[in-house]
Amino acid sequence: MQTIALLVKKPWFLGSLVVVFVSVILWNIPIEKRKYGLTQSGLVTDYTGLLPERIERVVKAENRSELQRIVKQANVDGQQIAIAGLQHSQGGHTYYKNGVVLDMRTFNRVLEIDERQKTVRVEAGATWEDVQEAIQPLGLALKVTQSQSIFTIGGSLSVNAHGRDIRFGSMAETIKEMTIITPEGDIKTITREDPDEWMKYIFGGYGLFGVIVDVTVDVTENKLYTVQTEKMKIDAYASYFDQLLNDQNMAMHYARVSVAPSSFLDEMYVINYKQTEKRDYVTALKKERSVRLTKLALDIGRHGGALENLFWGTQKRYIASIDGKEITRNNVMRSESTFMEYTKPGRVEVLQEFFIPVHRFEAYMNELKNIIPANDKNEDFKIHNITIRYAAADPFTILNYAKEDMFGLVVLMQHGLKEEQISEATSIIQNWTHLTLDHGGTYYLPYYRYQTKEQFRRSYPQWEKFAEEKLRRDPNNVFQNMFYDYYVK
Ligand SMILES: Cc1cc2nc3c(=O)[nH]c(=O)nc-3n(C[C@H](O)[C@H](O)[C@H](O)COP(=O)(O)OP(=O)(O)OC[C@H]3O[C@@H](n4cnc5c(N)ncnc54)[C@H](O)[C@@H]3O)c2cc1C
Repeated sequence: MQTIALLVKKPWFLGSLVVVFVSVILWNIPIEKRKYGLTQSGLVTDYTGLLPERIERVVKAENRSELQRIVKQANVDGQQIAIAGLQHSQGGHTYYKNGVVLDMRTFNRVLEIDERQKTVRVEAGATWEDVQEAIQPLGLALKVTQSQSIFTIGGSLSVNAHGRDIRFGSMAETIKEMTIITPEGDIKTITREDPDEWMKYIFGGYGLFGVIVDVTVDVTENKLYTVQTEKMKIDAYASYFDQLLNDQNMAMHYARVSVAPSSFLDEMYVINYKQTEKRDYVTALKKERSVRLTKLALDIGRHGGALENLFWGTQKRYIASIDGKEITRNNVMRSESTFMEYTKPGRVEVLQEFFIPVHRFEAYMNELKNIIPANDKNEDFKIHNITIRYAAADPFTILNYAKEDMFGLVVLMQHGLKEEQISEATSIIQNWTHLTLDHGGTYYLPYYRYQTKEQFRRSYPQWEKFAEEKLRRDPNNVFQNMFYDYYVK
């Protein structure tokens, strides 16, 4: 007893107790995985779980002739097929009522690497991570991918994805050639120059124009970059970015905007990746790390109010601490994702992305303050995170969100699942979309469709051509999904 009383008086003992206590708490933060996918109690859902639907069956083809047979048979039987990669899309893009879901994860091989030409041929159900694992030892890296590498190649191209690279254009531009199965069951090899223009509809075609079987993708050298970070005010960003784009030493870039009440839509920081001459063959691919700690920080921010201020302050300190560090190109393209998992019953966390022409950014951000509250502590609808990417103009694809050079605002938000809570979130997001459209912007289609059909048509004026070509190329409506049903049909 006496020894304990003596120990309690020692600062080092109390300090150790605190360390043990905090470690036990951190260790016990559950890292649950969101439950979604093809076998949810007979119902299919995607990443949000907001659109459960009963389907007829899931099929996994073992090889391409089986794939071809499934598509041909569907034409004969009048069956509908939806195509699924890893189902991170969130608006029912990968399934359809009473339809067949084609699970592409069996097509996951890296088929060929041409080191001299710097190209990789890979099956569409493989993830970008599979490609990174195959090319990293050769000193090669992807040109364009999302910030995480957890998505399938077929799923990424079918949503026309973009990422942190500011030099190589769109992800679609990095694809030289692909093999598809058309709605009538023909196997075709297509390129951008193909006079039938299949690629124009396959990229951002949401699995409605054919199955992507494999692609040949251009890669580049796995360079070592120096990280450069900077804090700034929102009104300085557009001109800062113009200069950055002119600086050929800058390879990649993204930014974060404050949603903390004390600096709401006023403060931001940028993270740049500057070229060095060094090519890297040895640095291991980054694995998920410090998941509990980063999840704790995000969970704190999720409460809003003063805790969100605390979270923003922590982020700023972290960002300042990585300034000057070195990182490989591959590792910039494989950020952690597990810490983002959110599994609270009765609530959902979703993504939305709004694109805004670079030159409209400042005016847009000022007006946005009238649409979302600076302090959402007591609101049901909460915003946790806004990151900014650059999406260069894409004149090629039919449902193109970047009609000119755009900033994409990726927004992580959360709301309850009661009818009135969903409808309040819908109304806020529709207002936000309205503002975006008024500034010449668009919104991204892989996420949950809070928007109206009218907003879709304003954002994607070529939708009629999309619908017309769909009927022409797929007269039996073999490829179907809930996205098409809601927006286009
Ligand atoms: C946490 C998170 C971060 C994200 N970050 C980014 C980002 O930085 N940039 C960005 O652009 N997007 C981003 N996204 C969106 C992401 O790119 C899409 O959700 C993409 O669809 C994910 O690939 P997937 O394998 O999950 O595709 P799925 O969701 O399975 O499929 C998406 C679409 O592709 C079709 N499809 C799938 N495979 C094929 C195939 N082989 N042939 C034809 N059609 C097919 C499906 O039918 C569906 O319409 C993010 C999403 C999440 C959840």
